[in-house]
Amino acid sequence: MPARLGADAIRGRERRREVKICAHCGNEIPVGERYFKVCDNFLQRCYFDAEDESDNVFCSKDCLCEALSVMEFEVLPDGVEGEAK
Ligand SMILES: [Zn+2]
Repeated sequence: MPARLGADAIRGRERRREVKICAHCGNEIPVGERYFKVCDNFLQRCYFDAEDESDNVFCSKDCLCEALSVMEFEVLPDGVEGEAK
């Protein structure tokens, strides 16, 4: 996992231009790149609490899923669910 930028470094950069940092892996999302954001009202209220929504910025669906503890399961022949390997 890449090192996160310090809070001061992030604040300093935000004065020059709005910098989007992935809330999960800490990668900067470059200008012109897309990022993911949870738009569900319930999750926004109950899961994310940063006023500037900096905790609701994700560089990839993988980061978003990991942050929300999304796991992959598979349907097993006996009808029970099993964690995908
Ligand atoms: Zn990320």
